Amino acid sequence: MGANPMKSKTYRLDRFIREYTSYSLSDTRLLIAQGRITVDGEPAHSIQQAVTEFTQVQMDGASLQNNKPIYIMLNKPKGVVSATKDDKHATVIDIIDHPQKQALHIVGRLDFNTTGLILLTNDGAWSRKISLPESKLEKTYNVRLKLPLSQAYIEAFASGMYFSFEGITTAPATLQIRSEYDAELKITEGKYHQIKRMFGQFQNEVLDLHRVSIGRIKLGESLQSGEYRSLTPDEILLGI
Ligand code: URA
Repeated sequence: MGANPMKSKTYRLDRFIREYTSYSLSDTRLLIAQGRITVDGEPAHSIQQAVTEFTQVQMDGASLQNNKPIYIMLNKPKGVVSATKDDKHATVIDIIDHPQKQALHIVGRLDFNTTGLILLTNDGAWSRKISLPESKLEKTYNVRLKLPLSQAYIEAFASGMYFSFEGITTAPATLQIRSEYDAELKITEGKYHQIKRMFGQFQNEVLDLHRVSIGRIKLGESLQSGEYRSLTPDEILLGI
């Protein structure tokens, strides 16, 4: 079987059969009538049945497609690249030990030295829902600064900051000052180096940046730096 043409798309069963076998579009009706095709374990009933990249399809008992969706959370350490390949440094894919890790992509990147919650999946439709700017999913970060914080930051983050390079104003962000140098920040966007640039407007340097949640999916306390686990069914639903 070649490259997966089903990625994040829904096909009709007859088109799927044409793609994966030597049968033509019109042969599918007969194959169905002969009971030779099953879809998710049940005999196929229509040429128009929907087949996604994760639908289990069998013909004559042999699997034509048996991809399983994978959803992983990783506690990203410092010094690891949020990419699938990098010539110089370890990537988030390199540091996990999953048999199908090459099929995974990253849902929302973190900078090289940012730590915390990264989501990885092979489900393009799921990751798109999370990443779409319109979904305005809130991401929460713990931030440690070089210089002391003040009330002025809270107002500036809430009213939005102008980024002259892109000519945009950031969406309202919620800053909670935890101590002189520590804050929790919630943002709903993911502009390039957004948080560092926001604090940069106060000439303040971000020393540590750690993502603790994406929407309602929380990193929690169970994963040490560099550790990962599969999402629970509830967490998968929380993402969408
Ligand atoms: N903002 C940043 O500046 N860096 C990150 O890694 C994430 C958000």
